[in-house]
Parts: sequence; structure tokens; C-alpha cells
Amino acid sequence: MIKVIKTADVPDSLKNEKFQKHLIRLKNNKAKVSGGYYGAKDVRESLKNEFNNKCAYCETKEFSPEIEHYRPQSKYEYLSYEWTNLIPVCRSCNRSKSNKFPIENKITIKNLEKLGTALNILNEKEKPYILNPEIDSPKEHFSFNTLGEIYSKTKKGKITICVCNLNDETLIYRRKKEYDNILKIIEMAKLNNTNIGKKTLNIIKEVVNKNKKKEHEYSLFWQNISLDLENLIDNN
Ligand SMILES: [Zn+2]
Repeated sequence: MIKVIKTADVPDSLKNEKFQKHLIRLKNNKAKVSGGYYGAKDVRESLKNEFNNKCAYCETKEFSPEIEHYRPQSKYEYLSYEWTNLIPVCRSCNRSKSNKFPIENKITIKNLEKLGTALNILNEKEKPYILNPEIDSPKEHFSFNTLGEIYSKTKKGKITICVCNLNDETLIYRRKKEYDNILKIIEMAKLNNTNIGKKTLNIIKEVVNKNKKKEHEYSLFWQNISLDLENLIDNN
């Protein structure tokens, strides 16, 4: 998980006339919350764009994400269409998190609705134990080792890892695989003590730098382990 602050406006499907009419029907109990609105094509595309086509929780590349309600619909129905409550996730994270949402301070639904839809106010009052990619700084809560495993630095980090299953075997394997490939190339290049070897090491440095960027899959993992690789490249 990395910090992502949405820059796009609320998509049309969550504010147009058709949607406003639906809200009125919803208020009068003549309609039910529908994925046709929060899962509309423009909402999905905008979320994909904001999150660099990655799952908001595990950072796996995901071009057909599921639309997740950070605060689950089952407990926070009034936030079902709230733009700041919608994030794109992979199927695996969505299944793990499901409708779990541990918080420090319980607030009644009536009082919650009074607080409004601003996530920062809700966060302040409820103190959720699940990291919010739009509010928290995940790098302050997580660290990684070169085996691809994620560790928590805080209680919030620990609960998020557990609830979203961020140490899932497949995730560990995928994080480690690319690291191992790069490690092999470095070792081979160092054995080949010629200009070609030196050029290869420079290319690898550029690759590692690129992997640390927000567009790359598992960028926080790369930010954590890049120093080890850079030291290995520089120490002859
Ligand atoms: Zn995921």
C-alpha cells in the first residue's frame, strides 16, 4: 500500500441527474444501493487512473479491479456512493477484508451520519485500525525484507496486514521473484568484470529506481529493499 490522494473530481455517474433521482428514491425506500452507480464505468476508470492500475491494498497490478468500500457498505450504507470511500482492489484483498472494519471508538450510526462524509473527520473520531491509503502514510507502518515478507511497525500496520492478508503466499512469491531476478543479474554482472558488466550494473540501478516509483507494482517493497541492492552494486 502507498499513499494516494485522489485528484479527479467526483465522476459523473455519482452526481448526474439520473443519480440524484436515484438518491431521492433511495431516501424514500423505493430503491436499493446499486453497484450500477458506484461501479459505473467512469467511476472504475477514474479509480484505476488514480491508483495507477493497482490494488489499493497490496499494490498488485489490476486492470479489472473490484470497487471496494473502505468503510463497508454493511455498516456504513450512507457512504456507499461517497467518492472518498471508494477504492480499487484486487479480488484477493477484497475477499480478505470483506466487511471487516475494526475501530477504536464506536460511534452510533445516527451520530456517524451527523459527522458527514468527510473521511478525515470520521477517521479522527473513529480511529480505524485499517490504514486508509488516502489519509495514512503506509511507509510509516510497514517494512519489508528481501524474502518478500511485509512487517508492521505499528498496531495499525499489523491489523491491516492481517485483515487484508498482505503476507499471502502468492504476494510474497511475486515480490520476491522480481527481486531474485535482479539479484542474479547483479551477481552475473559482477563476475563479468568488463565494461559490459559495468554497463549492466548501471542499467540495473535505473531499473531499481524505476521500481520504487508509484506506478510500479509493489513500489513500497522496492523502496524498502533498494538500499540493499544499491550497496551490493556499489561494493566491489
Ligand atoms: Zn490486493
